[in-house]
This record gives sequence, structure tokens and C-alpha cells, in this order.
Amino acid sequence: MKLRFLGAARSVTGSFFVIETGATRFAVDCGLFQGPRTLQERNYQEFTVNPKSIQFLIATHAHIDHIGLIPKLCKHGFEGLVYCSHATEELAQILLPDSGYIQESEVERKNRKLSRAGKPAIEPIYTVEDATRSLKHFRSLNQDEVIDVAPGVQLRLRDAGHILGACIVELWVEEDGKRIKLVFSGDLGNSGQPIVKDPSTIESADYIILESTYGSRFHPELSSRSEALLDVINRTMAKGGNLVIPAFAVERTQDLLYDLFLLNLEGKLDPEITVFIDSPLAIAATEIFQKHIEFYDDVTRQYVEEPNSQHPLKLMNLKFTRTQEESVGINARQGKTIIISASGMCEAGRIKHHLKNNLWRPEATVLFVGYQAEGTLGKRILSGEKVVTIHGEKVAVKADIQFIEAYSAHADKKGLTNWVKGFVTPPKGVFLVHGEDESLNALAEHFRTELNLPVFIPQWLDEFTLGALEPLEPKMEYREGIMPQALQAEQAYLALSLKLHDMFKENWKEGRYDKIMKAVQELEQQLNRQIT
Ligand SMILES: [Zn+2]
Repeated sequence: MKLRFLGAARSVTGSFFVIETGATRFAVDCGLFQGPRTLQERNYQEFTVNPKSIQFLIATHAHIDHIGLIPKLCKHGFEGLVYCSHATEELAQILLPDSGYIQESEVERKNRKLSRAGKPAIEPIYTVEDATRSLKHFRSLNQDEVIDVAPGVQLRLRDAGHILGACIVELWVEEDGKRIKLVFSGDLGNSGQPIVKDPSTIESADYIILESTYGSRFHPELSSRSEALLDVINRTMAKGGNLVIPAFAVERTQDLLYDLFLLNLEGKLDPEITVFIDSPLAIAATEIFQKHIEFYDDVTRQYVEEPNSQHPLKLMNLKFTRTQEESVGINARQGKTIIISASGMCEAGRIKHHLKNNLWRPEATVLFVGYQAEGTLGKRILSGEKVVTIHGEKVAVKADIQFIEAYSAHADKKGLTNWVKGFVTPPKGVFLVHGEDESLNALAEHFRTELNLPVFIPQWLDEFTLGALEPLEPKMEYREGIMPQALQAEQAYLALSLKLHDMFKENWKEGRYDKIMKAVQELEQQLNRQIT
């Protein structure tokens, strides 16, 4: 069996792993490369594996660096199903079209430059339409059930505690009568993180593919988080300025709302403060979060279910600014204002307008609550640059710049170590992915010396041949699982419906309506013949 590292290898983004046996080839995640330009260029390059040859895909969670290239994969011939949790599918329905819109806008800007330089225009990686079309491939599964997804491949999704619907992937793969168990951590969250459940303990694996985002860091205690937030709020409000918080639309925005709810509950939050969620995406994500209490941990659920209690994500002074006009309206406010906006690394979206409007004001505060990748506007502001360029305009950085690390949705060195210690039998190998060099090296060293584990740090495009452990685990039974034949039937149906969709679109564009009619009639006749 082969395991190929086609993304998130010696980098944090672009998660994409391909597993190959004599009988099948499938992938875990297919994410967008984000951060430095050299990395982003990979998004425009041809796939390093033929998308048509991938039979199915498993998506660990809805973050764009894990699913953001699925529309491109589909556009270039992938015909299989994308397995994921129910919440991941729902979040993908808002995040992928949004990503398509960003791709289109980026290329529009690039093409204006290219045309001025007399160079040919380029195509977007994918469009909103491509993204919407790729959603047809998504097939959500219940968590904690073992499911046969292909002959010789069984899958179980477990809680990763990272964002709503994020999963650890347990895979049992058979080859030549032997079975290997792979466990992909996806992105692992912190124990005790609000809203979502804690990461599941996994007891066995032959090989672990582990994220390492914070492999060299220790987060401050989670409990100190809302106090740190209160301190920043009070100091900003005392100066009469606005508090601008760039936040990822999914999970981070809702975590902030949750802490504001706690502060309000304790009577610590000034009731005159208005909190704006100014990002269409964050608003849509918050509405998905508000709806799905079944994914909440026990504490959050209790708040919702207690009589007379307030929903933790429905703060009193919370305003969703949906339209452009409402968003621009925030500019007129000075003081008693918290603006939570996306994108979290300040690369796109309405946050850029709020930064332009507040960064130069000494009374304002910009509070970072998330990881800022190298090369992003967020990283430049956070690392102390005195002047930054936003929308082609130079803006002085006079505002107070703050960072609360405890908001990370990623486990730190201690969290990652504890999760690996949860495996009862030591794995044959641990592959460290999804991290910068410093984190990867520190974690590898720690695992080798402290846990005596064989650790590998794969390079981009590396390929490993994996051997099975003996003896084999007993074959797992699937509970109320989906029969392989049912999945095959669904796969065949999907392929046919996609073919029909393409035939329709192509002929419709060229006005060949007779051809569409003829094809539909022929198909109808064939179906009738089969049914009777
Ligand atoms: Zn993630």
C-alpha cells in the first residue's frame, strides 16, 4: 500500500493525501494552498495525480485548506463521492461557493494587471458554479459508525474537536489479505474548547498522520481567555475606539460570541456595546451553528436547553450586517463597537475595509485571535509593520495590536502529545504534517525521545510504502452501515447525473434543444424497458 503526501507536507495548508492499493486509489482531503505566493501557485498547477483515477475522497472538515480544491478536482474529472460528517457538508455548502467567488475575484484582478502588461488572461482555479456543482459529490455520514466505503476499505469518522463537524478519520485498508489501519487526525482541537466536543481518543493504528500546527507551542489556559478578551474590550472602550477582530468565519467567530455571552452572563460586559458580525460568510456559518445543537458539547447544550436561558450564540446586542450599506454604516461609529469580520488572516473580505478605517487610529484596537500564516496581511500587522498596503493604499498602523493565543482551535504540543499517548499500542509510524518546519521538528524530536516513536516528516510529493502489522485486527462489523452495493449504486447514479448535466449545459448553450430532447427520450425509453 502506498501513501502519498500531495499537500500539507512541510506546510500548514493544502491538505491532500492519496492512498493506493492494487485495488483502489482514494484521497483524504483536497485543500487549497494558502500563504506564501510560491505555495499559492500550486493551486493553479495541474494536479500531481489524475483526478479521474481517484475513486472517492474523505473530507476531515470544512476549512478551505482541507476542502478548497475539491471543486477543481471535480472540474478536472473526479467522479467519486466525498464522504464527510453532516456538519461538514452543510458548512461546505457555504464555504465552497464563497471560495469560488474569491477565486473569480482574484483572477479578475490578476487579469487586469496581465492585460496592462500585454500578457494573455488566466482562468480562475474554479468558479462559483464549479463549486456549487462539486457539492453534488458530498455524501455525509453518521459519526462513530464503521462503514464499508469500497471493497476492502472501511471508514469511521470520530470527533476532532476542532470546528463544528471536524473529524478524525479511522481507515482500515486491506491489501493482499492483510489489513492496515491508518488514522488521520485532520486538525485536532483543544480539550475543553467551548461549543464542540473534545477530540475522541483513538486506541489503535498502524500509522498516524498527525497535524502539527502548534507542535512547538504551549497555549495559555483556556479559562483565562474570556478575561483576556474583557481586558482588551475595556481598554479599547476607555480610549473611545473601536475593537476590530479579524476572525475565521467558522468556529472562531462563534467562539468569540460564546465568550461574549459568558461575560454578559457574569454582568461584566458593558450593555451599551454593540457587537457586529460583518461577514456574509460568518453570518451564514453562525446560523448553521445556532441550528445544530446536536453537535454541541454538554456544557453548551445545557445553556441552550435550560429554561429561560439565553442561547450562547444569540447575544442581545448582536447585529448581523448582511448588506453592503449596513457594513459601510459601521464606519460612522466611534466607540462602544466590536466588529468581528472575516477573513481571519485579513487576505480578503470586509475586514480589509475595517482595517483601513481603524488601523491608523491610536484609540482603536485590532485583536488577532487566530493563526496568521507567513505572507498574509494579518501576519504583517501582527509582526509590527508600521505601514501596510490595503487595496493599493498605504495605511499607517497606529492602533493597538493585540493577540490572544488561547483562541486557537488547534491542540498545542501538550494536546497533541496527550492524544498520541491515548493509543494503547504504539503505532508503526507517525507522519507529521500540517505544520511549519519549527513545529514539525520540535514535535518529531519530542516524540522520538519521550515516546520512543518512529517519526517521519514527509516532503511535498513524497511517497511511502506501508507494511501491515501482524496479527491483523479482527474484521469490524458495521452497525446500521451503508451496504457497499448501495454506495456503488449511488456512485453510478452520480456519474450519470453529472454526465446528463454536462450534456444539457453544452447543448443548451449552443441552442441544440432537439439534441437534448432526443437524449432524454432515449434515456426514458431505456429506463422504461429496464423497469418493465
Ligand atoms: Zn482546520
